[in-house]
Amino acid sequence: MITGSTQLLGVIGHPVKHSLSPLMHNAAIAHLGADYIYLPFPVAPAELPAAIAGFAAIGLRGFNITLPHKQAIIPLLDQVADVAQAIGAVNTVLRTDAGWQGTNTDGAGFIAPLKSLRSTWSDVTAVVLGNGGAARAVVAGCAQLGCPAIQVVGRSPEKLSQFLQSWQTSPLTVPLSVHPWGDLPTLLPQANLVVNTTPVGMAPQVDASPLTQENWDKVCPGTIAYDLIYTPNPTRFLQQARERGAIALDGLEMLVQQGAAALELWLQQPVPVEIMRQAAREHLGLTS
Ligand code: NAP
Repeated sequence: MITGSTQLLGVIGHPVKHSLSPLMHNAAIAHLGADYIYLPFPVAPAELPAAIAGFAAIGLRGFNITLPHKQAIIPLLDQVADVAQAIGAVNTVLRTDAGWQGTNTDGAGFIAPLKSLRSTWSDVTAVVLGNGGAARAVVAGCAQLGCPAIQVVGRSPEKLSQFLQSWQTSPLTVPLSVHPWGDLPTLLPQANLVVNTTPVGMAPQVDASPLTQENWDKVCPGTIAYDLIYTPNPTRFLQQARERGAIALDGLEMLVQQGAAALELWLQQPVPVEIMRQAAREHLGLTS
């Protein structure tokens, strides 16, 4: 029920109508009986400063940021957490007495389903396929877990070199190396965790996989194969992983957990993660 004291939360993006966040957050808010509402705000890039000023004027409690604003928001904030600076992007903003405080919950969302799989990560070599925005959160997450080697594989030498460079001034210490796609046959046999951060496998390329069968032959059974894609579910990558005897993780839990971490920050109380997970799964037609 919306009352005179209901507080506003939301997500800004362009476009934003595909976002599952309103669905997940409002399900959790309703379950808690909290006096909040979470709305989608489509904001064009040129309107971003005006939107943030408007949010301050109407006293929004906090908001998420999705594409294309995750970097552009940074100069408009009063404080940016180390993890968001390291990733180079903000996905969650909280209003405080000191103004807008930005952070990034994608890395925490990424590592949440991994934590229960191993007690120690100090012997884990991670291979990360792709060097875009999501790969940055994955690299930060692997560094937070304590992986001693994070090997990022990309198709553009220039982008790989920029990616490596960007971590050298980071507040996080990251044991990072970058590699061309052709290095996979030597990287994969040593990998304990392989993460797909490319969009290969999403519609319309649902039969595509970032790894060839020859690549999979090099992957040790028991390796964790993590696809950030959450629809289709499973992706071709995860089907191949299961055939190889790898542990398959899809991207839905990352989505749910980054949202739960944001809601916890705004509400300052534990949030019902299972309700958020159920809302997302039902929307995506995932029953099992
Ligand atoms: P992005 O910034 O555009 O990065 C995509 C990366 O994939 C780039 O490095 C790109 O290479 C590479 N790539 C694209 N097509 C490729 C191909 N055919 N072969 C090899 N590499 C290819 O995108 P993003 O924001 O990182 O998102 C990537 C994926 O992660 C999307 O599927 C997205 O839905 C998913 N994601 C999931 C979550 C979650 O919560 N589960 C969160 C964020 C993102 P170049 O740099 O050479 O172009």
